[in-house]
Amino acid sequence: MANRVAAATDGKFEIRVFAAGEIVPGLQVLDAVQGGTVECGHSASYYYIGKDATFAFDTALPFGLNARQQNAWMYHGGGIELLRELFASYGIVQFPAGNTGVQMGGWFRKEINSVADLDGLKFRIGGFAGKVLTKLGVVPQQIASGEIYPALEKGIIDAAEWVGPYDDEKLGFHKIAQYYYPGWWEGVPQLSVYVNAVQWESLPRSYQAIFQAACAEANVDMVAKYDALNMPALRRLVAGGTQLKPYSKEILDACYAAANELYDETAAENANFKKVYEAWKPFRDTSPCGSALPKTPSTTSCWASRRRRPDAYWISIAWGATSIAGSSIWIEAGSTVVPWSSRPVTSSGQTITIATMMSCRPTQGTAPQ
Ligand code: CA
Repeated sequence: MANRVAAATDGKFEIRVFAAGEIVPGLQVLDAVQGGTVECGHSASYYYIGKDATFAFDTALPFGLNARQQNAWMYHGGGIELLRELFASYGIVQFPAGNTGVQMGGWFRKEINSVADLDGLKFRIGGFAGKVLTKLGVVPQQIASGEIYPALEKGIIDAAEWVGPYDDEKLGFHKIAQYYYPGWWEGVPQLSVYVNAVQWESLPRSYQAIFQAACAEANVDMVAKYDALNMPALRRLVAGGTQLKPYSKEILDACYAAANELYDETAAENANFKKVYEAWKPFRDTSPCGSALPKTPSTTSCWASRRRRPDAYWISIAWGATSIAGSSIWIEAGSTVVPWSSRPVTSSGQTITIATMMSCRPTQGTAPQ
């Protein structure tokens, strides 16, 4: 993004980039921009839910949007405008500028089958999901990236989520935890650029336009890169012995209920959250999930989500797939299809059958509603 802005202005508009910790710690970016220590910063807004839970909408909420839905909501569904009201009270103008796509659910040293298995589990997990899981007995841990591996290896924590196959493989979690689960808590981790509002107003209009375009480019480029890199990484992990598992229906039911309970509780005590939630929730519940087919799960994500119908589970597991056209989704491990789970997804009794995840192909039937 900094390179693009410099190139588009013949080097006249220079953005100097500093890594986390060089000027301020990584989790103090918002404070640094607000206070004018830096003019601009790049961060995930859910790191600031301690200041206001509403910041989570700028990144991701459990059972929330996927990347395509997030962009639809932000750019054309009123999302940016709503969140700008929140950021304005911190003296900041924010821009979507990056997205990891859906993240995995985590690495576990023991298989997790029931809600009882979550009780007392020490789980490194970021964002709002930790609050949801607290309701189910999990002890969430906030641990920086470089410290996750030793904590998991030494048994200080029992499980850890980070990002997805590409990033997780680099950190080596597969060497010390065997079980890997698709997630439901971070369908869309969007990253944002924060600009100090006073500094923003002082920029020439042409620089503002170039800056805004560079943010939008970064927003598209990052998720494209992850979508391209995650599938080969996942293939390597599974080929190397990683056991890919789904969360059980019991766990998803409990997590979904706990998430909604938490949202209602938060809305009752936080007017900012209530205002955004009441706009965001109907958008989530009525928008297509990102594929060419209405109400079909995203095809560029690995995403387990219980939708608004109480009897309908959508398990979308499809890194590298181009479409999911049927009521059954088969996930193949190489050329061998090994179904290990089958569950009803709609009131009409259609099923999704999942085997070890490697690729996805459509089968006959109608899409889950
Ligand atoms: Ca994460």
